[in-house]
Amino acid sequence: MTDTSPAPEPAFFPNKLGRIALLAFEEIVGHNGLNAVLNRAGLGHWINNYPPGNYDTAFPFADLGQIQCALEELYGPRGGRGLALRAGRACFKHGLREFGPMVGISDLTYRLLPLNMKLKVGADVFSKTIDRLTGQVVRLDETPESLAWVLSRCPICWARQAEAPCCHLAVGLLQESLYWVSGGKNFLVEEVACIAQGDAACTIKVDRQPVD
Ligand SMILES: [Zn+2]
Repeated sequence: MTDTSPAPEPAFFPNKLGRIALLAFEEIVGHNGLNAVLNRAGLGHWINNYPPGNYDTAFPFADLGQIQCALEELYGPRGGRGLALRAGRACFKHGLREFGPMVGISDLTYRLLPLNMKLKVGADVFSKTIDRLTGQVVRLDETPESLAWVLSRCPICWARQAEAPCCHLAVGLLQESLYWVSGGKNFLVEEVACIAQGDAACTIKVDRQPVD
């Protein structure tokens, strides 16, 4: 435990994002698996009762943290981390279907941009969409080699305390978005600082060069 600050005030996602997250977890661990996770997390009220696909802000950030915590308890830290990464990737696919047309990254014009422009434009669009949907301010730090997402209020690890960076869902989401943006390349995505372990902000670093 490195974080001794008081628990943050409750904050909420639009229902639609909570729904996407639950559908993504279900896709990865199965219906029964997710029921077990939700029970373990003390979130049995979501079983067979996912939030509706609307924009009412009623899905607590903290529920996402509880779910990831329960995943680690049930599947072990390594197993839970792997599943959360995969759920993050699934979140992107569901999210793209919902929001892609709205933000314009499904357009052919976007698809035809050169890769480094796509990374830049995609990162901008993505952070603005997150800002709009969650009220979280995402800052983008750029170096010639990398882009870093800096979240000073992170919805993924809200109210969590951890020994190591734990926003695997966000890492998976970024991995999949980069895979999609680049037409099938993999990038090194790493969370280098995390509020849950006492850092001032969650920072997820992305190498500009794909690994393959
Ligand atoms: Zn975080």
